[in-house]
Amino acid sequence: MKFGGVAVANGEKIRTVASMINQFREECERKSRRKSGKETEIILVTSAISTVTDTLLENAGKIAQEGNIEKVNEFVTVIKDKHDLVASEAIASKNELDSVKAEISEKVAEMEKALSGICLLGELTPRSLDYISSFGERLAAPILAGTLRSIGNGIDAVHLTGGEAGIITDEEYGNAQLAGKAEQEIRERIMPLLCDKKIPVVAGFTGETERGIMTTLGRGGSDYTATIIGAAVDADEIWLWKETEGIMSADPKIVKNARRIPYISYIEAMELSYFGASVLHPKVIEPVIKKEIPIRVKKLFNLEDEGTLIRKDTEKTKRAAKAITLIEDTSIINLTGTGVKSISDVAARIFSVLAANSVDSIMISQGSSELTISLVIKSAQLGRAISAIRSINAGGRIIRDFTSDSNVCAMGIVGAGMVGTPGVAGKIFSALGKEGISVIMISQGSSEFNISIVVRKEDAYRAVQAIHDVLGMGTTGMGTG
Ligand code: ASP
Ligand code: MG
Repeated sequence: MKFGGVAVANGEKIRTVASMINQFREECERKSRRKSGKETEIILVTSAISTVTDTLLENAGKIAQEGNIEKVNEFVTVIKDKHDLVASEAIASKNELDSVKAEISEKVAEMEKALSGICLLGELTPRSLDYISSFGERLAAPILAGTLRSIGNGIDAVHLTGGEAGIITDEEYGNAQLAGKAEQEIRERIMPLLCDKKIPVVAGFTGETERGIMTTLGRGGSDYTATIIGAAVDADEIWLWKETEGIMSADPKIVKNARRIPYISYIEAMELSYFGASVLHPKVIEPVIKKEIPIRVKKLFNLEDEGTLIRKDTEKTKRAAKAITLIEDTSIINLTGTGVKSISDVAARIFSVLAANSVDSIMISQGSSELTISLVIKSAQLGRAISAIRSINAGGRIIRDFTSDSNVCAMGIVGAGMVGTPGVAGKIFSALGKEGISVIMISQGSSEFNISIVVRKEDAYRAVQAIHDVLGMGTTGMGTG
């Protein structure tokens, strides 16, 4: 089970997490006694307390830039006070609280040392940034473990960093990749704890190189920690507790009759997240695919809620498309020109310079008659994209003309049922036609799991509702799901 920053945002919430775990364990015990089935073992992964990672990253940058050592002391005190307060709210037993507070002091002192170094040198390397940002989870984990130990009859919880849990990574700081031997390592570290009837509480987001240097798995990486560990220990299920009800057929703020999707396949869930549904990062799903371990996205603090089950097979439903997502702050760039050699040469140059400037294309389309390439990117990256393209366009030799438009939205329609189902695109376009909405750009991957469409911003919500309706994705739609 993974708990995100909001689930552990304050002492009261951490207590709620702990009592839910307690209740869940008792229910499992009762069931296993009745059916003399196997015992349920739980592993927990926690994020940093909400907003702490952002604060750490931000202040590490400021400290390196400004070189003001007083700021270090000030900031460290803020972090310490915050965690002390959360711990005191969460942990009932005095002894337990004292030992957790001692651990917080120790960790904060380590952090202060590192920040002082960063301040004196005026340099913040990716490696030190990972070290600093790891403290969010490394401070949250002892608090959650301490809370578990002091709840009910006391749950025997032990906290570990990612590295201590066997998450061995390469040295790509800020976005570390799992090393080949990690799986074995995780099993060796975690299984003995489970055999001793302990509940491991792992600091999400963090990993360690073989040399023992702290790394992080990328923003939002705690979900990834959970699926990595779940896969390594052959978990029955991985539960990701979220504020949402699970994965929805559309954003309920935009579409009234959006429904919770009970089952979705790995591939569909990945398509959805590539297309901006913020539920899961695509790489979170990767670790579980080979072993076919289901991931359940559950609504926070609601044990009974079934959530959405992400698994190998897709839902048995007549719905061809399952969900529609909208990315609102997008821009389209149109490039036209004769190019130097060929269309592929121009494309190669454009995409390399965009990649070099960390611009991600959400959609790409290329007309076949004239040399035009259109791409859709996040509007926040537009400035970067335009200067990147200018930088390779010496005197307009590569691209004759290029324009951009930020008044557009991109939407993705996802569903395995669209494969080989004729008429889905037809339905979509006639529904949009009826609404008087013109389509600016279309693309469909050859997997047929995803149709992407760009429309004007002012049409976007109506377009989402119309497509959701015509494909019967909602609660009142057709289908058996
Ligand atoms: N605390 C990390 C972040 O904010 C990881 C996570 O929350 O999953 O990115
Ligand atoms: Mg988070």
